[in-house]
Amino acid sequence: MGGNELKYIKDAFYTNWISQYGSNIDEFENSLEEYLGNSSHVTALSSGTAAIHLALRLLNVEEGDFVICQSFTFVATANPILYLKAVPVFVDSENQTWNMCPDALEEAIKYCIQQGKKPKAIITVSLYGMPFNVDDILQISRKYEIPVIEDSAEALGSKYKGRPCGTFGDLSIISFNGNKIITTAGGGILISRNSDAKRRALFLATQAKDNEEFYSHSEIGYNYRMDNIAAGIGRGQLETLEEKISQRRKNHDFYQQTVKNNGNIKLFSAPNSDFYSNYWLSTIILKDTLLKEKLKAEFSQNNIETRYLWKPMHLQPLYKDYKFFGNNLSGTLFEGGLCLPSGTNLTDNCRARISEVLQNEIH
Ligand SMILES: *Cc1c(COP(=O)(O)O)cnc(C)c1O
Repeated sequence: MGGNELKYIKDAFYTNWISQYGSNIDEFENSLEEYLGNSSHVTALSSGTAAIHLALRLLNVEEGDFVICQSFTFVATANPILYLKAVPVFVDSENQTWNMCPDALEEAIKYCIQQGKKPKAIITVSLYGMPFNVDDILQISRKYEIPVIEDSAEALGSKYKGRPCGTFGDLSIISFNGNKIITTAGGGILISRNSDAKRRALFLATQAKDNEEFYSHSEIGYNYRMDNIAAGIGRGQLETLEEKISQRRKNHDFYQQTVKNNGNIKLFSAPNSDFYSNYWLSTIILKDTLLKEKLKAEFSQNNIETRYLWKPMHLQPLYKDYKFFGNNLSGTLFEGGLCLPSGTNLTDNCRARISEVLQNEIH
C-alpha cells in the first residue's frame, strides 16, 4: 500500500457506502478514464477474469463459437471461453514481444473459416507488461473484421507508440489482483470504446435486471461489480502508479547491468522504442532447462524466490486437445525461462544478494 488507500476506505465507512455503489467506484472509474484517455469507458469489476467473461458476452460469443486466444498466458485469459462453452483456438507467440504471432493468427483464422465459422473474437495478451505487436495484429483484425479483446491484465502503464495498453482492443481489460502492478486485493476493469458497451457491461455485471419496478430478468447476468472498499484501495493505488512503474523499470535496469556480458542468459527486453513496458516482471531465458533448474535451486538455497514462466495453454492438460497454430516458440520459452524477483520493494540489499547468485552461477 502506498498512500491514501486507508483514507478512501475510511470515507466509505463514514458515509456508510459498504456496497457495490459509492463515490470511490465513480472516482476510480473517472481517474482511470482520464489516465487511459482515447475516449475510454471504464467499468469497475470484481476481477480481470470477470472482465474477460463480460467482453465475450458483449461480443455475443455463444456455445460452439470459435474464439482465438494467445497460448502463452495465464489460464484466466482462456477460461471464460469455456464458461460460455465456446471453442478456444490457440495461437503461438513471436520472438520480439512473446505475444501473439501475426502469421500464426492468420493461419488460425483461415482454419476457422474453412470449418465454416469465422471466429467471434481474438484475445491478445501483453505478457509481463510487454505490449503485443499492435499494428500487425490490428491490421489482421480489420482485414477479417474480427474484434480484438485486449488482455492487459499485466500491462497497466505500458505503452505502444506512446499510447497506453488497455486502449487498443475493441474491448480491453486490466486486472488489480494482488499480484499485479497496482491492486484492489481482487478487482479488474473492462474498457470499452463507447458508452453503450459500458451500459451493457454494467447491466450484465449486476444480475441483468430489466428496467422494471419489480425484479424482472430476461437473460443471464452475474454478480461482477467492484465494491466501494476495493475501489477506495484502487484510488489510493492509482496515485502511486507512476512511482511503481519507475521502480519496476529500475529492477529491469538492474538485471540488464547484472547479466549484460553473459552468454548463457538473456533478459527479456523491449525490441525497440515503439514498445514501452511497465516491466511488471523481469524475466530471463537460460541456455537450457538444466541451467534453469540449477539457477532456480541456487536462488532457493539463498532464500530467494523465482518462478516459472506461464505454461502455455496448448500444453495444459485442460486445453491440450484444442487446436494450436505456431511452432511452439512459447513452449521453448517456458522450458528455458524464469521470472526473477520484481517487486516494487526490492532493496539494495536484496539486489546485492540476487546479483551474487547470478554472478556465481552463470559462467
Ligand atoms: C491476472 C491475469 C488475469 C486475471 O485477472 P484476475 O483479476 O486475477 O481475474 C488475466 N490475464 C492475465 C494475463 C493475468 O495475468
